[in-house]
Amino acid sequence: MSALNRALSAKQLETLKNKLLDALEECSGNTEAIQLAEPEGTDETEQSIADYTNSHNLRFKNRNAILAKKIKKSLKKFELGEYGLCNECGDWIRFERLLARPMAEECIVCKEESERGENRQLPSSPSFQANISMFN
Ligand SMILES: [Zn+2]
Repeated sequence: MSALNRALSAKQLETLKNKLLDALEECSGNTEAIQLAEPEGTDETEQSIADYTNSHNLRFKNRNAILAKKIKKSLKKFELGEYGLCNECGDWIRFERLLARPMAEECIVCKEESERGENRQLPSSPSFQANISMFN
């Protein structure tokens, strides 16, 4: 098997772009549908229910806004002809991965690598640090 993934076909790109456009439409729709709850009385319980609902809705709204931003960023890559390329190694991200995660910016190899890196805790002993610097 070749180590390099193949470039996406025009048809595959079209499929992924439509997926992103659908997702964008869906999350902008959700954001508009959210109305902040108004407390109906001066009752303390009602007030706290409204507060709870509002903070929940705001979180939801923020998440949607972040998601919309990510989708737009991915759509921009279509214009630049960079969609589907891994941010890290520049190799093509596999179509199957993009189909599952159209906003993926790293191929599965780099993704796993960076997740391992995030979880890694470096011991702080000076000798260990010295060993590391030899490889850098
Ligand atoms: Zn990569």
